Amino acid sequence: SAKDAGKNCYQFYSPHLSHRADHLMQWEQQLRVALTERQLFLVYQPKIDLARRCITGFEALARWNHPQQGVISASEFIPVAESTGLIVPIGDFVIAEACRQLAAWQSQGHETLTLAVNISAVQFWRGDLYETIARAIEETGIAAHRLELEITETAMMEYPDLVSEKIAALKKRLGVSIALDDFGTGYSSLSYLNRFSVDTLKVDRSFVQAIPADRSVCVMVSAIVNLARSLGLTVVVEGTETEEQIAWLSALGNIQAQGFLFSRPVPADGISTLLDRFGVCGMREPLAVYGSG
Ligand code: C2E
Ligand code: MG
Ligand code: MG
Ligand code: MG
Repeated sequence: SAKDAGKNCYQFYSPHLSHRADHLMQWEQQLRVALTERQLFLVYQPKIDLARRCITGFEALARWNHPQQGVISASEFIPVAESTGLIVPIGDFVIAEACRQLAAWQSQGHETLTLAVNISAVQFWRGDLYETIARAIEETGIAAHRLELEITETAMMEYPDLVSEKIAALKKRLGVSIALDDFGTGYSSLSYLNRFSVDTLKVDRSFVQAIPADRSVCVMVSAIVNLARSLGLTVVVEGTETEEQIAWLSALGNIQAQGFLFSRPVPADGISTLLDRFGVCGMREPLAVYGSG
């Protein structure tokens, strides 16, 4: 994919939609239209508690319903949005929409479900992320800790002082949760786990893909999981696609998994089917009925 190619050559902005300047301008124009014409929407991928096999929450992922090309994935258009600055209004839309979804779950009695949104580095230095999130929380009345911000290692490293300061404010003053996304693919050292006041660590799909065949990757994943849990962090493994991976990861104990094996990201109207199928973690079991009959 474009994203993987970007990782290998250490380019942050390397969308295949935009490798020519005239293409970039064309996509920028179309993305502006997408915003005003409401062509963007969110899909939701569940996070599964591996021990209990219930849903702890979802990650919101952006999609673009392009009038000619159909639905375009985030991995293709988010890099264009980042390099043009359009990620700021797109991010505002994503945050508002995510908080609306959290409020809907709250009113349906799903008070434990969390929702994660991805935040680009650009959103920290352009636009007012704090204001956007504060307003969305206030307008929807959601419990702030159920909103999780996923930030990649690369994003955190871009301007570590600025980003760590902004994350600390979001966490301390608003109470949102922070996840370190794509862990293991960037340059960050383990000390950043403390510095950025992270709550959740998401182990990148590239590690998960090598499980269980690659023994050294297995050792690393097991060490990362143990370390993260010792630090009191929640661990999520990304991109679980096979039963073998799930069997191996389940043996590590208390972790969560996200991946195509459990579910692809689904549109909002597909959420209730998933909740019925897996159940929601943290809900009380139905009380046993005594002395009936
Ligand atoms: P991410 O946050 O690491 O999200 C995981 C990506 O892996 C998603 O791709 C998801 O569809 C895909 N995925 C999930 N499970 C599996 C699996 O089992 N196998 C494989 N092969 N892939 C899996 P997507 O939706 O194209 O998003 C790509 C990236 O774009 C995301 O990576 C995230 O960094 C970014 N992104 C997505 N939505 C947003 C957004 O609303 N705002 C920002 N700033 N970035 C976003
Ligand atoms: Mg993510
Ligand atoms: Mg990720
Ligand atoms: Mg990833």
